[in-house]
Amino acid sequence: MQHRQFINLGNNVIYPLQLENGKYLLIDAGPDFYLDTLDSWHLLTTALEKLTIKPSDIEKVLITHAHIDHAGLASKWAHFGATILVNKKDISAVELGNEHLMLQKKMQHNDIIYYGFPEYLIENIFSSEKHPQLYWKPCAPEKIKTPKKTYHLMSGNSLEILEAPGHTPGNLVCFIPQTGELFSGDTLLPTTIPTPGMHYISSKNSQEKYIRWPSLPDFIETVKSLQKLKIKCILPGHGTLVDDPEKLFKRFNTHHQIRAERIRKLLSEHSDTPFGLAKRQYPKIPERRLIQAMIEIIGHLDVLVTSREVEFSEKNNTLFYASTK
Ligand SMILES: [Zn+2]
Repeated sequence: MQHRQFINLGNNVIYPLQLENGKYLLIDAGPDFYLDTLDSWHLLTTALEKLTIKPSDIEKVLITHAHIDHAGLASKWAHFGATILVNKKDISAVELGNEHLMLQKKMQHNDIIYYGFPEYLIENIFSSEKHPQLYWKPCAPEKIKTPKKTYHLMSGNSLEILEAPGHTPGNLVCFIPQTGELFSGDTLLPTTIPTPGMHYISSKNSQEKYIRWPSLPDFIETVKSLQKLKIKCILPGHGTLVDDPEKLFKRFNTHHQIRAERIRKLLSEHSDTPFGLAKRQYPKIPERRLIQAMIEIIGHLDVLVTSREVEFSEKNNTLFYASTK
């Protein structure tokens, strides 16, 4: 296989691919941050120049998913004339930038109490930013387009853009069938299992503006369908290339099977809230630190609700889950 060019920017990896017209398509815009006196835009364009690619050679920037570290520099690329390609379900996030993040956090904050997290612990729980140093400016809507299904590359190969919902509602991955390369974004990572988040999408129902989208069932389905492709190597959005894709798929599947099994067991003892389940699963962790565990458990409960092994009901404004068996 030919050597694939890539750029490490902060914790992200960005891939420039040459299109048949000689211009470039970039997989992910990259994060927007400052490092001492330099900014990430400078670092990225310098790294591209080392590959003899000028910023004006970048015709298209494909955003695998609307997260701050992948789409942070989208507005900058748009400003320099590139078309930003985003799946329609992630477009509003890229248009809003940081405001999208704040909106999601606010909804998560309100919802988390509904899933049993004690109100007295919630203060400042979301104030510890995951990416305190990253910026995300809104991207000009007229520069954003939905991607085509296929792009023709200079090499004669084709780049297929595949919908892969899970990590975000509009998550995309890219596949080159001729070489078996999968650009996986955050869907498959070399050393970690991406955790399901709490995502809120516009509701079709006029009563509620936003509803929570159960992401993990779709995530698992996505990975199942990717497993059917003839993948030879995975080029992730973070970390190094993986040339044993089977190992990653196996690890992903085993991880989720084990987690689901733990919840089945806990619910076979008695019904509980996601927070109660998190506390029982991790009795030694301080309660205020259980949010992430709880969000993961909500993801697995979504899977078990989809397979009808678990059902939920509301009691005193709190959601309880119970085994159907
Ligand atoms: Zn990421």
